[in-house]
Amino acid sequence: MTAANDRATPRAVRMAMPLARGVVEEIAKQYGVCIRPVPLRRQDILTGQVEVIDVPCGATLESKCPPCAKRNRQLRRAQCREGWHLDHEPVNLPDNADEYQRHLVELRADAQTWRDEVEKTGGDTTDLDAAIVDLDEEINAAGMRGNVLGRTSGKRSRSTKRRQDAPDLPKRQMIKTTLGRTFTGSDGKVYRPSMFVTLTLPSYGRVLEGAPLDPDRYDYARAARDALHFSKLVDRFVQNLRRVAGYDVQYFATVEPQKRLAPHLHMAIRGTLPRAELRQIIAATYHQVWWPSTDTVRFEGDHLPVWEDGAGYLDPETGEVLPTWEQALDKLDQDDEAEPLHVLRFGDQADIKGVLAGTPDADQLIQYLSKYLTKSLGDALGTDDPRRKAHAERLLDALRFEPCAPTCPNWLRYGVQPKGAKPGMVPGRCRGKAHKPDHLGYAGRRVLVSRKWSNKTLTEHKQDRRTWVLEALGVEDAPVDPHRYVWRPVKPGDPDLAPIGVRLLRSVHERQRWRNHLDRLQAEADGRVLSAIEGRAA
Ligand SMILES: [Zn+2]
Ligand SMILES: [Zn+2]
Repeated sequence: MTAANDRATPRAVRMAMPLARGVVEEIAKQYGVCIRPVPLRRQDILTGQVEVIDVPCGATLESKCPPCAKRNRQLRRAQCREGWHLDHEPVNLPDNADEYQRHLVELRADAQTWRDEVEKTGGDTTDLDAAIVDLDEEINAAGMRGNVLGRTSGKRSRSTKRRQDAPDLPKRQMIKTTLGRTFTGSDGKVYRPSMFVTLTLPSYGRVLEGAPLDPDRYDYARAARDALHFSKLVDRFVQNLRRVAGYDVQYFATVEPQKRLAPHLHMAIRGTLPRAELRQIIAATYHQVWWPSTDTVRFEGDHLPVWEDGAGYLDPETGEVLPTWEQALDKLDQDDEAEPLHVLRFGDQADIKGVLAGTPDADQLIQYLSKYLTKSLGDALGTDDPRRKAHAERLLDALRFEPCAPTCPNWLRYGVQPKGAKPGMVPGRCRGKAHKPDHLGYAGRRVLVSRKWSNKTLTEHKQDRRTWVLEALGVEDAPVDPHRYVWRPVKPGDPDLAPIGVRLLRSVHERQRWRNHLDRLQAEADGRVLSAIEGRAA
């Protein structure tokens, strides 16, 4: 008998036996257990007890962890279903920051401290800066609004010229409601219709099976810029939609990659509009990107701006200090001839469907809406199809020197200091998500939900499921005082941290226990129903 299956060997030791990581992950997936848990040290300030707890990684839909991705998709479906055909006005109360949110805020504070320390010692803060951006997004995603640090600078007042022109569209008097109209049929039945819209970007060249027929004539520059600014175009669409519809239209939308690697949008809209009007809004919607011009490359290769403390970036030959981001924007404001860097519009392939509440159709569309959420935009880079792979690589190339944000180091290439310029910035080496193969230009959120879609944030939807399970288990879901715990990150190699295999198996064991209990409850409930039926029949 080997030690591994010898009952006399303590269980913890048996579990720690080197079991192939892949095998453990497979088991974990079968049980719906997160395979990339984040270890956190939790201190109970009432009892002083300190524990290392594995928190599921699954904070985002793009999670590479299949069980978390699946769970997130289910939650999103529940959220979509809840709001689509709402028949009463939602009440939006500010949510209490729950434990997870609080943990995020603390983590954010830690990250800031680490970052500032690294900066003080002259180290590279790029990774920490990126982490902070991610954390801020996650904090917002967790249902908190605004930035943790509050607004640090006043919003730029824009000149009239740089304001977006309102497109020529009919405008209705606003009614203070988020609900769509209902219609009463001849049979007296009340119908609550809504819409499902798919919005697509224009053509950049003919495409066959996800790759251009003629790559040399495919407009990669435009495809790259459209992807970078896609979420702004969606914002404009919503603004126009509300103006025309005359009520506070609510939506649940997902951004998904098309086969040609352009982002497109599926949107469930509460309420309904005439199709012709909707087509008019789609056609009239555009977004202008008022950024400095990138027509002229001023610095590249070894010829790059140099950093000087107190001055910023300067031309290495002339010593001229490059305009700051603010100065570049001011210049743009004053230039009457200036053109926007880019103008986005939708393509003409909009798809509009009418949907009725509670029909199988509505259900199917909800499934469809979240079908590709776990696919990343850059999946084509991993395919065996050489045409699609080459296509993805060309798009990635086009994105390399395209500025992704005011803070993007690529601005140096065009002779402008990025917003918040700091030493060590090199054009072509921006670490922003948009340049990465997984994103291919679109770094925005994959799920866009309007504030008054349902009464709940995703955190609350999660809480719903938890409450349901605890009720089923007969456990009281006592509210936990959020101040009770202090969470701290656990670094790899921490002596309190068990090997990943052991931690995964522990979670599987927990899940198994839980599932058995639920099954038993279900069987008991079934038994009661059965005996009730038999009792009646007798
Ligand atoms: Zn996970
Ligand atoms: Zn960038």
